[in-house]
Amino acid sequence: MPEIAARLAEIRRRMDAACRRASRSVEEVTLLAVSKTFPAAVVAEASEAGQRHFGESRQQEGCAKVEELPASLNWHFIGRLQRNKVRKVLPAFPVLHSIDSLRLAAHVDRIAGELGLKPSVYLEVDLAGEDSKGGFSEAELEAAIHEVGCLSNLSIVGLMAIPPAVDDPEDSRPWFARARELRDALLPDGGLSMGMSGDFEVAIEEGSTIVRVGSSIFGRREAAQ
Ligand SMILES: *Cc1c(COP(=O)(O)O)cnc(C)c1O
Repeated sequence: MPEIAARLAEIRRRMDAACRRASRSVEEVTLLAVSKTFPAAVVAEASEAGQRHFGESRQQEGCAKVEELPASLNWHFIGRLQRNKVRKVLPAFPVLHSIDSLRLAAHVDRIAGELGLKPSVYLEVDLAGEDSKGGFSEAELEAAIHEVGCLSNLSIVGLMAIPPAVDDPEDSRPWFARARELRDALLPDGGLSMGMSGDFEVAIEEGSTIVRVGSSIFGRREAAQ
């Protein structure tokens, strides 16, 4: 089996095991393959192995890959979204994981309206109050869900969380559990975008509905992203 296909199979096996431990159905959890920094040929290889959802975090690089690859793939924008990139990102990426302010949401809504698009969006929650990360604080979240919910061109499909980096994935568990509590309380029909290469199993055990896995599928990235 080619290397990417073997790695995808291994991630799927670990996802299945995590679902079993949590008495969840595997259909509840989507694998988003984060292909940032890797060339389109590698995405094509993953796609041949059956992978359908891909995540990118930079406009220029991501849009180039979307253009190069078959239209049957599902593209998610997962990086911090600058307002001046929205007009280019929206036509290529129907799902945005990182709506981190009302100002950005309003801007995306306006441009989506101009382009006749209806993107699905996750609202990013900054659970630990980290200065380096965007996102709504817990205190802001309820009002944010209400305000973004009133924007006619956006559909809120869930919450997204990136807990503080840790060595032991168990240390992420309380953050994932907190994200789930907030989702249950404020957005009961929504999904949860949480879990990366280092901690996706714990995230699934705590209720993640879409895990964003990059390096465990594609290998180590050259530069920090
Ligand atoms: C790069 C990235 C990932 C994937 O990280 P890995 O540790 O390589 O799995 C997930 N989410 C976001 C927002 C990212 O930028």
